[in-house]
Amino acid sequence: MGFFGSSTVTKCKECGTDLGTVERLERHKEKAHTKHDAKCKACGTVFESFEKLRKHKKKCK
Ligand SMILES: [Zn+2]
Ligand SMILES: [Zn+2]
Repeated sequence: MGFFGSSTVTKCKECGTDLGTVERLERHKEKAHTKHDAKCKACGTVFESFEKLRKHKKKCK
């Protein structure tokens, strides 16, 4: 067995970080590159963009 990590991708396509395992990579992608992060912490509403969230925050609370 001469190959190591050639069939399993554990490297993040977004930033190039090698997480070593697929599990870690999935967690990393969620934490570092999540696209569903535009959520108001005060009321829990999720917005499609950070701009909308920013505008909402001024009114919310
Ligand atoms: Zn990454
Ligand atoms: Zn809110």
